[in-house]
Amino acid sequence: MTSGQHDSGFLSLGQATARTIALRSAAAGRLQRTLLVHGPAGAGKGAFVDDLLALLFCTEARVADRPCNACRGCRDARARAHPDLVIGSPEGWREDRSTGESIVAVARRWLLESAGAPIASERRVALIDGVDRASEQTQNVLLKALEEPNGRQMFILVANDPSRLLPTIRSRCQALRIGAVPRAELVEWLIAHERVPADDADALSRLAEGMAGTAIGFAREPARVEWRRRTQRELLTLLERGLADRFASVRDLIDEGTRQAAPAAESRDDAVEGEAVRTPAGAQRQAALLILDAWLGLARDLIVSAADRPDMAPTTALLPESGALAARLDAAQLRRFIALLERIREGLVQNAAPRLAMEVAMLSWPRLNP
Ligand SMILES: [Zn+2]
Repeated sequence: MTSGQHDSGFLSLGQATARTIALRSAAAGRLQRTLLVHGPAGAGKGAFVDDLLALLFCTEARVADRPCNACRGCRDARARAHPDLVIGSPEGWREDRSTGESIVAVARRWLLESAGAPIASERRVALIDGVDRASEQTQNVLLKALEEPNGRQMFILVANDPSRLLPTIRSRCQALRIGAVPRAELVEWLIAHERVPADDADALSRLAEGMAGTAIGFAREPARVEWRRRTQRELLTLLERGLADRFASVRDLIDEGTRQAAPAAESRDDAVEGEAVRTPAGAQRQAALLILDAWLGLARDLIVSAADRPDMAPTTALLPESGALAARLDAAQLRRFIALLERIREGLVQNAAPRLAMEVAMLSWPRLNP
C-alpha cells in the first residue's frame, strides 16, 4: 500500500478492534445510531472519524467494499464537506451565541437543525467533537436528541474522556476505543505514509508514546518537535532557578506556545484535537495544554533516567543534559509533581486560567539537589 488514495477500506493506522467492530456492524446493517469514538488526546481519533464518515457516506453498491475511497461520497466525507454532515462542538456553540443566548440554547438549535432531512444521501450525520467538554445541562439536551427516534440521522460523538459523559448517554452509544499503537507499527506507518526517514520515525514514535495523531502531527510539523525541545530545555533550566525567574518565564512560554498552537490546531490529528483556538483565551489554553504535555513527558523521562534507564526515556536523545540533572532530583518529589501536573491539566480542560495553572505548576517544579 503506497499512496493509499484509492485503496478501499479504512486508511487510519492500527485500531484493529474499533475498525473490525465498525466494518462488521456496517456490513451487517447493525451499526448503532450513535457511535462514540473515544481515546486520549493525540491517539488519532480524527483520522478514525474520517474513516467512519467515509464508511457512512460511501455510495459503493457492495456494502462490503465500503468505504471505496474513490466515490464522491467518500471524498466529500474525508474532506468533511459532505452536504449531509453537520459538525458541532461545545466551543463552537459557545462562539455561535448571540447576545444573551446560552450555550444550551445554541446546542438545542444546532441539534434541531441537524435532525433535518438528508440532502444527498440516505442519512444525515451529526458529528460532535469534544462532547465530553459539554456541560451537564448541554449533555441533557443532547440526550433528548439521542432518544428522539429518527431513522435518517446518525450521531458520531468524539471524546477524550468518556467518564465525563452522562451514563445515560454512554449507554446509548456503540463505543469505539482509539488507543496507542505498537511502536513498530507506528514507525512503519511514518516511513511509508509520511515519508519520515527511518531514524526520525523511531524517535518520533517514542516521543509520541505510541499516539498516532501526535506522531503524525510531529512528522508534518517538524517545528513542533523543535518547539517542544526548546520548551523542555527551558523547564530544565528552571530547575535551578527561583520563583521570580520561574514566574517570569511563564509568560514567554505561553506566548511561544500560542504561536505553536495556532497552526497546529488546523490539523485534526493534532495532540489537542478539536478545541477552538480562534479566541485569544482559547489559544492560551491550547498553548498551556501543549506545554503541560511537554512538561509531563519531561518529568516522566527524568524519573526513568533517574532509575538508570535512559534508553527508555525518549527525550534523552534530544536533551542529553537531562540524564545528569535527573540524578540530582528526588524521585518521590518528581512523582508527586507528575500527579499534580495531571490534575492541573484536568483543570485546564475544565476552564482553569492558563497563566495561573502554569504558575501553580512552577511552584511545585522540584529544585535540584546540590
Ligand atoms: Zn465510496
